[in-house]
Amino acid sequence: MSYEIKGLRDECGVFGIWGHNKAAEMTYYGLHAMQHRGQDGAGVVINNGKEFVTHKNVGLVNDVFEDADFSKLQGHAAIGHIRSATKDTNDFEHVQPMKFEFQNGSMALAHNGNIMNSYDLRGELESEGSILQTSSDSEMLAHLIKRDGKSPSMEAIKKALRQTMGAYSFVILTEDMLYVALDPHAIRPLSIGSIGDTFVVASETCAFDLIGAKYEREVLPGELLAVSDNGIESMFFAQKESRKLCTMEYVYLSRPDSNLNDVNVHASRKRMGIELAKETAVEADVVTGVPDSSISAAIGYAEHSGLPYELGIIKNRYIGRTFIKPSQELREQGVKMKLSPVRGIVEGKRVIMIDDSIIRGTTCKRIVGLLREAGATEVHVRIASPPITSPCYYGVDMSTKEELFAANYALDDMCEMIGADSLAFLSLDGVEKAIVQTDDESQSICKACFTGNYFVESND
Ligand code: AMP
Repeated sequence: MSYEIKGLRDECGVFGIWGHNKAAEMTYYGLHAMQHRGQDGAGVVINNGKEFVTHKNVGLVNDVFEDADFSKLQGHAAIGHIRSATKDTNDFEHVQPMKFEFQNGSMALAHNGNIMNSYDLRGELESEGSILQTSSDSEMLAHLIKRDGKSPSMEAIKKALRQTMGAYSFVILTEDMLYVALDPHAIRPLSIGSIGDTFVVASETCAFDLIGAKYEREVLPGELLAVSDNGIESMFFAQKESRKLCTMEYVYLSRPDSNLNDVNVHASRKRMGIELAKETAVEADVVTGVPDSSISAAIGYAEHSGLPYELGIIKNRYIGRTFIKPSQELREQGVKMKLSPVRGIVEGKRVIMIDDSIIRGTTCKRIVGLLREAGATEVHVRIASPPITSPCYYGVDMSTKEELFAANYALDDMCEMIGADSLAFLSLDGVEKAIVQTDDESQSICKACFTGNYFVESND
């Protein structure tokens, strides 16, 4: 069986809350804090004790909720989703959460990640008569849960999840429960918080800070939680594996103020910069970082090297992320609109330019050009993560091998193509040292995009 990257491959973020009389508002705030995880859609489904009410649309959280009438979204429990789409699935049908009505109840689901064997599972469902309307894993999981015709239950969800392989976090709302599930390697992030007796779950802890929730713990690898008015029940739907949280969550995806598995994202990025400086020192006058995600690493690099950290590049905040632009030409234009060099800082200087990662090489190439145009005498590019040489099947939108710069060119060629005086990447050991802050071997990170070592296998 070949692993699958579907049209719907996304970063995304999930949120869930049980036992709060302002569940919809809390979800809105939680999604707002996680806006960086996707700008293509947002939504909430609330349970008001009688029925499920949905409010969702394509667009940014504030736009989606601008016309929300919260008086109609009253309820004690809710799930929410923030969406990053590809061009094939950038439509209303794919905006989550997805709601399903049965004769004997309702269920709503939202997820972050990717079910790798969904092609096969869809085939099985179709052969039994299911007609799926979208390519979403949430819709597919709903069908798997209802396969035996009974009401959704912990057993049914466990059985459904055991048929899947992949990297995902799920929040599932039924009439009397909020279910929360995380893949057997905990590749995607998912944390539990509380506000008094209220249970909260979110992809990132920055969502807790905004709603005044206290961080409790991480959801464990392969854990399935059932939250209700009677309390929280936990069980495992897969055999215990070590945690392999996605390295790219630390490198780029998550917000600097979030803690992932008890490690602060900004602090880990700063350590990546320190390790990078130890490994790839070069003579220069200033260190600068590509805003925003590389600034922490640039600060670390400057601190260790003893060179001044300067704001050599600034970002225009009013355009979206370049990565999701469909064609190379548009992506290059996007970088130009988004980033500008600060001539007064870089002119006549030897500049070390830190970027967090190279995917297709577009950003680096453009910035080296901008820095030179602005008078930098030398540009040394330092990347605060190892070369990305393999696509991600675990839910991060990271191209096919053909598009990955480092998969196709040797270091010297890459350096020449981006027009830098020198280019160096952080080592695998360096990134690991920067992130993993414990000797506990069950707490490691996923490095599949750097190594091509895909460890996820079926649970069957
Ligand atoms: P590229 O220009 O294609 O080489 O992409 C590299 C830039 O994209 C870096 O500056 C990163 O900050 C950013 N980046 C890294 N991973 C992702 C991702 N999964 N989605 C969007 N942007 C990313």
